Amino acid sequence: MTELLEVRNLNVEFPSRRGTLKALQDVSFTIAQGEILGVVGESGAGKSLTGASIIGLLDPPGRISGGEILLDGKRIDNLPDGQMRRIRGREIGAIFQDPLTSLNPLYTVGQQLTETIVTHLPLSQKQARERAIELLESTGIPAARERIDHYPHHFSGGMRQRVVIALALAAQPKLIVADEPTTALDVSIQAQIIDLLKTLCKSQGASVMLITHDMGVIAETADRVAVMYAGRIVELGPVADVIRHPQHPYTAGLMGSIPMLDKNVERLVQIDGSMPRLNAIPPGCAFHPRCTFTMPRCTQERPELLSAAASRAACWLHAQEHTHEPA
Ligand code: SF4
Ligand code: MG
Repeated sequence: MTELLEVRNLNVEFPSRRGTLKALQDVSFTIAQGEILGVVGESGAGKSLTGASIIGLLDPPGRISGGEILLDGKRIDNLPDGQMRRIRGREIGAIFQDPLTSLNPLYTVGQQLTETIVTHLPLSQKQARERAIELLESTGIPAARERIDHYPHHFSGGMRQRVVIALALAAQPKLIVADEPTTALDVSIQAQIIDLLKTLCKSQGASVMLITHDMGVIAETADRVAVMYAGRIVELGPVADVIRHPQHPYTAGLMGSIPMLDKNVERLVQIDGSMPRLNAIPPGCAFHPRCTFTMPRCTQERPELLSAAASRAACWLHAQEHTHEPA
């Protein structure tokens, strides 16, 4: 597969009165054409910051302090605002947790869709409206031909998120960044929306970065998964492998939080403790205060995520596998 997106050693920092807080450190990953990469981790891990860096919507005073982001081989992390805005509509679509973030309450969904379409595609108003109706139909909105003239507040939460998906896909972008797209929705419709997102992106050949705290969603949807902890990627690999044999104890902990359908429990295993705050990231492996396998080395030296096939996790438990080459 050809790489569509390449994130190389991304660093994001927030200046604060007590010094600079490092929010993302050396985050590197790729997304191939048509691939769905899941990015998972608890709140505060850096998932949304990674997504915001890619779409050029990092909230100030946060700033990219190192590394680069390439889309189709071209750097997009250092573009002027105007150029980035064009890329955002045309080449990268965004879907956020709250559909109302993406929709303007003062315009009908049809006006918003056709506006996006004519801005980015060589279509007339009339053609754009037809495409808008097709898009709404493809997202499963009933009576799309009438509902296209309704305002966002006329739609339920789930229907609104369908409109947002249609809007994100309107200009046929190459990449969709979806940040917790179903978290704000009723549990009963979450699976439908994720399924819709997956089906539509696959049929358009769009790549997806799917940000979620829910390992169950990743299992159902993604091709590969990046697990984030305290501003770094701690495990990265094909979903099937990571789920069957999680290498990082944090990933194993997240796996334990997938609800079992045939059991009457929400969470089987809880990871004790919580994600460290940015100003208090522990030395060595940031996960060591919560890990049940902590060794002396873990508190001193930080394990790296090696791209070598030997290990896909940043954890000393797997160190032997990549350090036993003859001296
Ligand atoms: Fe646990 Fe050590 Fe691995 Fe960190 S490096 S996850 S503390 S075993
Ligand atoms: Mg978030």
